Amino acid sequence: MIGVIADDFTGATDIAGLMARTGADVRMHGGIPATPPAGIGAVEVIALKCRTAPVDQAVADTAAALEWLLAHGARQIYWKYCSTFDSTDRGNIGPVAEALMARLGADHTVYCPAFPENGRTVYQGHLFVGDALLSDSPMRHHPLTPMTDSNLMRLLDPQVTQPVGLIPLDQVREGADAVARARADLVARGIAHLIADATADADLATLGQAVADAPLLTGGSAFAAAAYGPDLRQLTDTSPLPHLPAGPAIVLSGSCSAATRAQVARFRASGATVIDVMPSEIATDGAASLVDAAMQALGDQPVLVTSTAEPDALADVQTALGRDAAGALVEGALAAVAQAARARGATRIVVAGGETSGAITLALKAHDLRVGPEIAPGVPWCFADDGAGTFALALKSGNFGGADFFTDALAALERLR
Ligand code: ADP
Repeated sequence: MIGVIADDFTGATDIAGLMARTGADVRMHGGIPATPPAGIGAVEVIALKCRTAPVDQAVADTAAALEWLLAHGARQIYWKYCSTFDSTDRGNIGPVAEALMARLGADHTVYCPAFPENGRTVYQGHLFVGDALLSDSPMRHHPLTPMTDSNLMRLLDPQVTQPVGLIPLDQVREGADAVARARADLVARGIAHLIADATADADLATLGQAVADAPLLTGGSAFAAAAYGPDLRQLTDTSPLPHLPAGPAIVLSGSCSAATRAQVARFRASGATVIDVMPSEIATDGAASLVDAAMQALGDQPVLVTSTAEPDALADVQTALGRDAAGALVEGALAAVAQAARARGATRIVVAGGETSGAITLALKAHDLRVGPEIAPGVPWCFADDGAGTFALALKSGNFGGADFFTDALAALERLR
């Protein structure tokens, strides 16, 4: 079994979806399973909500996930973080990697957030989003982890205690043997953290081939799929997806990323019912009237409940309420709406935003998810059972999906019926 530890919930569904493309049995858990699972898949993904947690807590949470995965037969571990390397000066990507390396007895690991299909590439250790450096992309305005540097060596260095090095693209383009030599050379020089360039899927395939034996790899979903895909394709899961009962559809957006802003605008323009979350009102009066409004709108047509805001409006709210407090407040309000919608029989729930997805998935007690078909690269439909029945959950990372993502997601589910 390949064990994956993901630092947020959309990242977990992203990697689960890409690994499921191989046809292998991929299972995902929201947090560490409290009870023994019914069975073990070829890939077990544990979704944590530790991207912006204090470093000590992130290290403790990932250590506990690692122990669960090892106890259930993991032979290799993947530490999955965002393809835009979302982190702060202190972590959590580096400190978690070092703690996992120590437990696994690994003297080095490889970092590759590249996801060319979604426009994330790494060249000379610099991360690009489409044709822009990460620091020139909308990620520089992220509410919780603003990324104002694009140099992965410079980003990782303050997070770790051991040296950082680079496997450059020209060595990757020479083939797997050249990568293996570069890796051995760096490790012989005492470099423990190897950042790898990749600008195309073929580069990831070369890297994957060269490092697939490593006890620990780290990065985005595409690198994992490249490293483990060839073995996973031998294992095909043929069991049918669960039956999905009819019920209302709701879209919950707590992401302020550029792609989500376009998706919310497109959905609004389509004439759909949209309910706006007002953080300052919730801060003073609570979320009850938001929940009421959303429940009144729930019916035959999908309803969108959104806090998605432009950078200026977001900055105003954060100045007034504090960044983390505002984030937690909005996440809590959207989670309360999700719980109420589920209690009213909603069976199709689309969520935009990584942190938002974590809050909502935990609130819905969607502990074990079966991974289904992809809506867009890195965003699969997942199926959960909360005791009251099966429901479908799509967890979209802020910058994923095309402008019609919300409509596309619901249409994709209709096609499964
Ligand atoms: P993404 O995947 O786009 O990064 P996340 O859900 O991970 O989205 O992060 C967005 C964060 O911003 C969440 O903590 C969310 O609660 C917060 N947030 C969303 N809308 C607002 C708003 N209008 N004001 C303040 N904070 C907000």
